[in-house]
Amino acid sequence: MIPPFKTQTAAPAPSLRSVQADLARRMAGPQRHRLLQGYPQVALMRSSDPQRGARKARELVLSDDRALIVGVLPHPFCNPQVRGCGFCTFPHQPYRGDDARETVRHVIAEVAARTRHRPEFGPGLRGREVEALYFGGGTANLTPPDAFAELGASLAEAFDLRRAELSLEGAPIYFLSRHQAILDAFAGIPARHRRLSMGVQTFDPAWLARMGRAHFGEREQVAEVVRAAHARGMTVSCDLMINLPGQGWEDQQRDLETALSLGFDQVCVYHLVLFRGVGTEWAKDPELLGQLPDNALACENWRRARAFLLEAGFVQASLTNFERGALHQSERRFRYEELSFTPHASDAVGFGPAAISLTHHEVVCQQQTVKQVNLSDAAAYRAAVAAHGAADARDFVYAFEDRELLHLTRTLPRLAVDRTIYRSEFGADLTQSFATELRALEQAELVRLDPDALRLTERGMFYADSVAGLLAQRRVTRLRSRRRLPSGSNDAGPVHMG
Ligand code: SF4
Repeated sequence: MIPPFKTQTAAPAPSLRSVQADLARRMAGPQRHRLLQGYPQVALMRSSDPQRGARKARELVLSDDRALIVGVLPHPFCNPQVRGCGFCTFPHQPYRGDDARETVRHVIAEVAARTRHRPEFGPGLRGREVEALYFGGGTANLTPPDAFAELGASLAEAFDLRRAELSLEGAPIYFLSRHQAILDAFAGIPARHRRLSMGVQTFDPAWLARMGRAHFGEREQVAEVVRAAHARGMTVSCDLMINLPGQGWEDQQRDLETALSLGFDQVCVYHLVLFRGVGTEWAKDPELLGQLPDNALACENWRRARAFLLEAGFVQASLTNFERGALHQSERRFRYEELSFTPHASDAVGFGPAAISLTHHEVVCQQQTVKQVNLSDAAAYRAAVAAHGAADARDFVYAFEDRELLHLTRTLPRLAVDRTIYRSEFGADLTQSFATELRALEQAELVRLDPDALRLTERGMFYADSVAGLLAQRRVTRLRSRRRLPSGSNDAGPVHMG
């Protein structure tokens, strides 16, 4: 393949003073911490054109020298008693069993259409070995078990899952309902390893009630899920939130201690994203907003949570994910996340409402990288799949500068960007493209530029959203002005809570 090249003149380098001011502004604002989706944010993506046939053909020529990961969102439904659990920014809709079944039927149809064998386009997706597959979305384990089993069978027919890690995400109680029927359905899908991911958020009953999640299960039900998962040879992970309004460190530590005592293999720690205008239910409540810790205290709580888990023998695998040391050294470590944060070596294909695909193709000996996002509304998604066999709503074709930013913002969640890999991907050291920004970030003690890698400091981990936003600023400003979009602070990607 011909080495990559810049397709257009890069934006002129800004002055150090203006970059420092931009960074200070970002660090003073709300922090998103997770960098879940990488560059660019959805607003910078184009609405998909009607040339679906051409695009589907392009999808079918993924080279097979990259690892393939698959994200499946069976439906966008969940049923908390407080809208969006108070804090959630992820697309979700109120649960209705018939709608869920109908949506799963269309996800199966999307999988079949996009993996249809078309020899004229080369090997395609059909039968491709999958490294890791993740069932996520609103509340994936709320899928009716028989529909989930059908979806699993269709994926096992379309792909080779025998060496895959499978993850199933959801709320604790639904892993147990109907005599653990969803676990039986999950265990019926061929795989190398299976893991559960539970949205616990906190074990504090008062906070669970405030979130409208009391019926999702308290400590005893969570413990039962961990036992059920381990009895079936599965590993199990929990999401915990820190920096809830008015919450002291002792409360946060108690949640971490409980998670460890219950035997979780992985603990994902999330800083609560809450500020006026984020669009969640809690963002309308001045009292809650007034009780939020400032960034200095929130960062200190993050440091304490990190230190607590490291002292307990966990290894930090990414910005948010901590794994027990022995597990992290084994084949059973969390591969889906690791690969999704290794964009130069993996393709990601997504099915279902709001699913994201990020794929690489060779076009006339040049690499082309494309991101696509599916429609998120269940009815609109179903209508699109019924009509076209696909439901992509937006796409983004990466120019050279965009690929650099994608690489940085997708790799930073693994805490370091390898400079040798960066040079081989882009033909130059990252200091050539981002000299001023890196200087400002080093001065603010957010990153360290070592000879082998750019590393986030502990403080930089908390301010990762500011780091990514600063690196993307120049390019985002140009794209916004070209597309006449309003300016905003969230430059690296949208918030995503599960
Ligand atoms: S946090 Fe989970 S259960 Fe709550 S609204 Fe969001 S997707 Fe639904």
